[in-house]
This record gives sequence, structure tokens and C-alpha cells, in this order.
Amino acid sequence: MIRKNKHQKKKEFEEQLVQKFPYRCPYCDQPISYDQFDLKVGENVIQCCCCKKTYIKVVSNSYEERG
Ligand SMILES: [Zn+2]
Repeated sequence: MIRKNKHQKKKEFEEQLVQKFPYRCPYCDQPISYDQFDLKVGENVIQCCCCKKTYIKVVSNSYEERG
């Protein structure tokens, strides 16, 4: 008989989840994915896909990606 005893690194996975935790709509608390928006440095008008309300998301310079 073969016994498998794998030690899974659960901690790393949890840390990744925390980093990817989405921003939530301030009105309906719906998680918003900003991949669908063309975010620029400054104020961005975001429309929630759930409640259709708009709000301002401020993007700082550090968010800007090179390339
Ligand atoms: Zn909403």
C-alpha cells in the first residue's frame, strides 16, 4: 500500500486571495472588477454593473503601470 502525505501550502494561497480582494461598490456592496474600466491617474467615474449607480474612484500615481 502506498500512502501519500502531502503538505499543502495553504498560507500562500490565502495571501494571494487577500491581495486580489476586489473593491466593493459603496452603494450595494457588490464586488467590482476594474479590469473592464480603462483606469487613468486621477478621478475615474465608475458605474456599478449591479445597481447602475456611479461613483468616483481616485487612482494614485503609484497605480500607473509602465510599458
Ligand atoms: Zn452597486
